[in-house]
Amino acid sequence: MTAKVIDGKVFAAKVRSQVAAHVARLAEENGITPGLAVVLVGEDPASQVYVRNKHASTIEVGMASFEHRLSAETSETDLLALIDQLNADAKVHGILVQLPLPAHLNSELVINRIDPAKDVDGFHISNVGLLGTGQKSMVPCTPLGCLMMLRDHHGKLSGLNAVVVGRSNIVGKPMAQLLLGDSCTVTIAHSRTKDLAAVCRGADILVAAVGRPEMITGEMVKPGATVIDVGINRIERDGKAKLVGDVDYASAAAVAGAITPVPGGVGPMTIACLLANTVTACCRANGLAEPEGLTA
Ligand code: NDP
Repeated sequence: MTAKVIDGKVFAAKVRSQVAAHVARLAEENGITPGLAVVLVGEDPASQVYVRNKHASTIEVGMASFEHRLSAETSETDLLALIDQLNADAKVHGILVQLPLPAHLNSELVINRIDPAKDVDGFHISNVGLLGTGQKSMVPCTPLGCLMMLRDHHGKLSGLNAVVVGRSNIVGKPMAQLLLGDSCTVTIAHSRTKDLAAVCRGADILVAAVGRPEMITGEMVKPGATVIDVGINRIERDGKAKLVGDVDYASAAAVAGAITPVPGGVGPMTIACLLANTVTACCRANGLAEPEGLTA
């Protein structure tokens, strides 16, 4: 069997155009422009690239983008004051603090200062609790993107066996909650899991969010399963820099029914879902109908 490739670039373009259409409607019918504020502290090169991409994508769909670049020495007091200011700003519907923060800043304190209604990353403890109890929340972007692709591929996910490898707060745990919300039978595997291969082979849906290059191989995949590779790993092969996932693509694609590639799978969906969350937050803030298909 050769797996169907789930093309994240194509899917993300579709999500972005849905967001853009909704943004245009909000401007026309309600005179409202959704706004996203991104806060970057320090000069981490990877974070700078992410922030630049987020800014460009926000503008492209017609939303307002507010960038706040602060020096690496910024004090916690000043950062919290900026968040308070953004919380109070009616033009700002979504706030994202780019992680990781410099070591002297307490990430949990900073994230939990964001108004939960503007927490478009879905990391605020209130949103985590709402998601965990099956209530309406802001959903973390990467797992939301995975869920959208899975729903699109399978239609209904109810009753399927899902295995999520990785239990981080930003990917593994919310992914598992979302799959549970869609009535999958969910197993979360991690570094202490015994016989990971056997656990993975039980999965109709296998999500890899580990951060270990190509560790999930074809022998760990059930024939016909859907494999979602969240991993982004920079490696060197044959003297060249290369981006690979947590899944060994060639061997897994020979067994799976469908698979996301790296690059071009989950990655593009993350920013698309950030835009989707911002338009959703804007609609909720203004008591307007939310765009369909862009939330969990
Ligand atoms: P974390 O490092 O926070 O979590 C990794 C998880 O993998 C942990 O739960 C860890 O288990 C588990 N793990 C580590 N080694 C093994 C092993 N040998 N067997 C089974 N489980 C193992 O990573 P993140 O969740 O933040 O990210 C995961 C990957 O996804 C990374 O490659 C990251 O770059 C990528 N990513 C991609 C995004 C995108 O937009 N596409 C967005 C966010 C992340 P334990 O808890 O026991 O230590």
